[in-house]
Amino acid sequence: MDTPWVISCIECRRSFSPTDVRYRCTCGGTLDVQHDFSAISHKITTEMFDMRLSSKKPIDKSGVWRFKELVLPIDESFIATRFEGNTGLYTHSSLDSYMGLTNVKLKHEGENPTGSFKDRGMTVAISIAKLLGKDKVACASTGNTSASMASYAAYMGMSAYVFVPKGQISYAKLSQSIAFGAKTLQIEGDFDIAMDIVQKVCDLEGIYLVNSINPYRIEGQKSIAYELLQDLSWVVPDWVVVPGGNLGNSAALYKAFSELHALQLITRIPRILVVQAAGANPLFTAFKSQRPLQPLYSPQTLATAIKIGNPVSWKKSLRGVIASGGLVEQVSDQEIMDAKAHVDAAGIGAEPASCATVAGVKKLTEQGIISRDASVCLVLTGHILKDSDSVVLYHKGELSGIQGRYAQRPALVSADVDSIIKQIRN
Ligand SMILES: *Cc1c(COP(=O)(O)O)cnc(C)c1O
Ligand SMILES: [Zn+2]
Repeated sequence: MDTPWVISCIECRRSFSPTDVRYRCTCGGTLDVQHDFSAISHKITTEMFDMRLSSKKPIDKSGVWRFKELVLPIDESFIATRFEGNTGLYTHSSLDSYMGLTNVKLKHEGENPTGSFKDRGMTVAISIAKLLGKDKVACASTGNTSASMASYAAYMGMSAYVFVPKGQISYAKLSQSIAFGAKTLQIEGDFDIAMDIVQKVCDLEGIYLVNSINPYRIEGQKSIAYELLQDLSWVVPDWVVVPGGNLGNSAALYKAFSELHALQLITRIPRILVVQAAGANPLFTAFKSQRPLQPLYSPQTLATAIKIGNPVSWKKSLRGVIASGGLVEQVSDQEIMDAKAHVDAAGIGAEPASCATVAGVKKLTEQGIISRDASVCLVLTGHILKDSDSVVLYHKGELSGIQGRYAQRPALVSADVDSIIKQIRN
């Protein structure tokens, strides 16, 4: 296949053919898609992407494939799109004041078709699966990757195999995977164990692995950056903030910004802030100690989407954070749930992992590290309905180890107008 990209190792730079089904280099390093933009660099303009906003073509209506030249220039006949992306960019004065800032924007990736940003990477991975003639796909997941994969695979008539840690993913996420018809395997172990097993099973069974170790996932996830810039009329913010789990998303953001910079479509790269849960903080520890990442065994956090101790993309992510002049921060589950209560009360709503960003920014603003007038864009990674259990428990004050500081307790009233009116006036 003659393509304007290769797959190359982030360690030794060895490159492989795009049609090679592999997820690691022979040296063990993770892989990246390396584009050759030389033939088209003079043709790519921001105006061209803006024009596509009014197009009726399905691929232009996708917030991923609208940027096809930057994502992956494959033949349209292979593209499996569910019109992902096109997510809202919110501002809210109460969240500004909660974080102590004046110019915050929140990009709500929970507005994707299956309720998380994972759809942006999945549309590309499933399209590549189709291009490679694969009809079986698999992933290990804390719930959102599996929901997304199950949907895209079903839509394209592929078989899907989901490996999830038993009892550690939310009901909503589990239900998506089951409903979309994926073979759902609940593993006795945590995410890191499931991740290890799925790689072995895929190798042995010739199943296509669509975790973010698959470099094509990262290419799709880059489109958060493109769409964000498009929303901002291509004015680069000071900070872009994401929660960090397996660390594919933060790696994708840096790759997107640095490629745009090389193409001279932007003049500077924003600082990338990754926020981890304190109980699942291996990148934070590596960043602070300036040492290679040490896997953390049995990570603990209520924010299950980022409950990962041995993140696959840590090196790509850390390099991006450092090269952008960014930071890694950690926040407690209490801080996450309090931030979430504010995001929810603003009428926006997001799942716990997403709200780690708000908690992290608040912390850094209080320390004077993010300045009050900085332009800050947070990525809300998942929908509020992804984890309704944690919402109800928090507001009832029953979430173990967490104080319901901003709880809105539901009231119990008898079916009687007078007593209800008394409640309302109270
Ligand atoms: C997957 C996920 C994350 C973590 O993203 P990584 O790319 O694994 O770091 C954060 N929040 C939500 C809602 C997710 O689904
Ligand atoms: Zn290598």
